[in-house]
This record gives sequence, C-alpha cells and structure tokens, in this order.
Amino acid sequence: MISVKALAHEIRQSRTSAVAALNEHLEVIDEMEGEINAFNIVNRDIAMQSAQKIDDLIASGKDPGPLSGVPIALKDNLCTRGIPTTCSSKILEGWEPPYDATVVERLRSAGAVIIGKTNLDEFAMGSSTENSAFGPTRNPRDLSRVPGGSSGGSAAAVAAGFAPAALGSDTGGSIRQPAALCGVVGVKPTYGLVSRYGLVAFASSFDQIGPLTTTVADSALILEVIGGHDPFDSTSIPSPTPDFSARLNEGVEGLKVGLISELLDGVDEDVASRLHEAADALRKGGARVESVSVPAVEYGLTAYYLIAPAEASSNLARYDGVRYGMRAQGKDVAGMNAITRREGFGDEVIARIMLGTFALSAGYYDAYYGKAQKVRTLTRQDFDRVYADNDVLLSPTSPSVAFEFGDRSDPMTMYRCDTCTIPSNLVGDPAISVPFGTGAHDLPVGVQVLARQLDEEKMFQVASFLESQSEGGTKL
Ligand code: GLN
Repeated sequence: MISVKALAHEIRQSRTSAVAALNEHLEVIDEMEGEINAFNIVNRDIAMQSAQKIDDLIASGKDPGPLSGVPIALKDNLCTRGIPTTCSSKILEGWEPPYDATVVERLRSAGAVIIGKTNLDEFAMGSSTENSAFGPTRNPRDLSRVPGGSSGGSAAAVAAGFAPAALGSDTGGSIRQPAALCGVVGVKPTYGLVSRYGLVAFASSFDQIGPLTTTVADSALILEVIGGHDPFDSTSIPSPTPDFSARLNEGVEGLKVGLISELLDGVDEDVASRLHEAADALRKGGARVESVSVPAVEYGLTAYYLIAPAEASSNLARYDGVRYGMRAQGKDVAGMNAITRREGFGDEVIARIMLGTFALSAGYYDAYYGKAQKVRTLTRQDFDRVYADNDVLLSPTSPSVAFEFGDRSDPMTMYRCDTCTIPSNLVGDPAISVPFGTGAHDLPVGVQVLARQLDEEKMFQVASFLESQSEGGTKL
C-alpha cells in the first residue's frame, strides 16, 4: 500500500503515471469490492479522464500540485457535479448535484483524481454502516465485522487499498471511529477549518469534513489542501491554514498530555491496555502524561442525541418529494410529502427526525434542547480548564474493536460507540484517531489525540510520534 505523499512524489517525478496509479487501484477494487462494498459508485471513466489530464500536464512541464494523480474516494454525502450523491438513502436516488463541494474543488485543483463515492450510514446517522439503504460495508480486516460508521465506506476503502486516501464527515465520531475499527488514520478538524459547502447537512453545528489515510503525514497534507477560508460557508474561519506538517517529526519531549479519566469508563480491556501503552510510549518520549478529569463529558452522549437530531429534523425537512430525488404518489401534496418521506427514509433517520422534532417542540424546548446546549457550554469550560495545563489530551477512539454485524441492534448500545468522540464535536475542537496496535481477535485499536481549537499542528505532532511507536499490526 502506497502513501499519498509517496505516490504524488512518484507521479510528479514521472517515475509512474496518474493513469498507471489509477489502473493499479482499480485492479484492487475489481478484486475485492464484491466482498467489501465500500463504494456506492466507482467513477472509472471520469477518473480516467482526470488522470490523463494530470499526465498531460506533467508531460508539458507543469506541476499539477501536491496530490498529483492520487486517487481519492469521497463519502457519498459530498456533492459532486453530475455524479449521483445519495447519502446512502433511497430518498436521494437519481439526484445529481449541480455543483461540487468546496473540498472536491480543492482536491481537484491539487491534482487529486476522484475515484468514487463511498457507502455510509444513511445521512451519516450511525456507527456501523449497517444503516445504508444499499447494504452494509464489510471491514477489510475481518469480513464478518462492521467497518464502523458512518464513514465506513471511506475507512474500508483506505484499509483495503482501494485508494490511498478518502474524505469522510464527522458529526459525532464518523471519521475517527471507522478509522479506528479499520486500522487507518482519521481526523476531525477544528469546526470551521474545512468548508461545509457541498456537504449534505446532518447537524450543522457539529458537521466537519476530514481525511482518512494510512499515515498521519498524509492526513496533515490533505487537511492543508482542503482547509482554509471559504466565503460559501458562513461558519468558515477567515484565517489562512497553518502548515500542519511542520512539527511531524519533532517528538514529544516536554509536552504535557492529559489522559481523560472519564473516557476510560466502560472501555474494553484490550482497548484500555493499548491506551496505557500509548501513554507509556509518550512518557518514554519525554512527555509528561497525567490523568485529568473532564466531568462534563459524561453528559456528552445525552446532549448530542438531543441537539444533533434537533438540527437533523430541520435540515432533513427539505426532502419532500419535490426538490430532490424520489417521489411517491399521494392523494394530495401533503399526502405525497408524507408517503415520500415514509418510503424514502430508513428507520434510523425517521427515529432521529421524530426525536429532534420532539426536543424542539414548545413545552419541551427548554427542558431538553436548552439543557443540552448548557451541557455544551459546561463541556467547553471543563476542556478550557484542563487545557490550561495540558498541550493535548488522550483517550480511546472507540470503546471496542470492530464488532460483528447485528451485534448492536439496540440503539443505546450503538450510540455508546461514540462516547469518546462526541465531546470534540460538542466543543468544535480537533481530534485524530491513530492506529496503535491490535486488541481482541487481532483487530486494530485506535488512540485518540484531542487538541485545542486550531492547534492541529500539535495534534499531528503527537499522533505522528504515536504512529512511530506503534508496533505492526496496524497495516494490512
Ligand atoms: N454515530 C453518530 C450518530 O449516529 C455520529 C455520526 C456522525 O458523526 N456522522 O449520530
């Protein structure tokens, strides 16, 4: 498996071509996609045209950019002009966006080749990719297990070698948790660092787009390409993107790392052991690692499952059988709206819409939605207090390794998959999941590094050190 950096370098030096690189990845897809189902669509012809364009540019002496000829897979909730964007939902079947998401434009102008659109839990609601209307994705590390979710297709595509990198979206953990379960790197950037323009909205105050890659350096590079201000997203931070790769090889000497004690509760033993080993590795590298308390994270899951559905219920109101995709027949307009939504959405999406509508309804607004927003403020205050004396924080990414299909059929057990990842979404801070050895059944374990807003540089520095200390077992 080749890294983004190495492949772009080879192509820029004309040691291989973008067309050859694309063909190699298409071969791996042909061999294994039947079993894995990572993609909703593979864009063979369009990808081949863009690969050829990259090769032509290089032949004429031009530099197509830092991602020259690198095939990249996109989660199928990112808008691609003229290419179906389904969110793995029946309700969007047949819809082709009239525009590209900002991240897609930025990838293309850096020379990337969009290879396809990956499977997800419908509208990014889930932690296993079992909620896709097009069938689940299987974990390349063990086909009887889930790849995590909701960006399960993106994580599986990278882990299987279908593409050296993919983009996902993370509202409560959907990049980091599947990255951990598939043994790849996944980043949820600072809220506002990456433009959400063209990302189909789930919960707009949490949603962020980020990379999934095989190395920490690759994630830093892709974030440099897709990050930065975008006037099309009013929540986009109007400052230039820092050089995230600057401190990748600097080690961790003198850094202060806090181990979040609350996020070790309820975590499987194998995962907890890897986390303690990661902490020891950091200590050996010269960091100070101490246990810290962030009490409000205990309410994170509850607050998230009120605010996120509330926002989703509003965002998903637009799928009415008129403006997008499918339409079912009804007696009158209201009947058509209702039947389209009942037939077009899957059960989890309907449950979230109902939960969100309830949380926002008069009489319950203060008791549920209002209280949940207060938890958000408390979480911010707790993190600020801990960051006063720590550079970064450490926790597991997922409480367990990849689980078997059907194993979390009760919603609460499924929702608990996100306990460790949700706090960063509530406060808008960045976090990365980096593979650190294996746990039960020889399956990958991910360690999460959390950082202050816009301190991705330090987050990558620590993650890169952990990557260098992790013994095998993390790559296929
Ligand atoms: N699993 C969480 C949920 O179902 C998070 C999803 C996400 O980050 N998109 O809401």
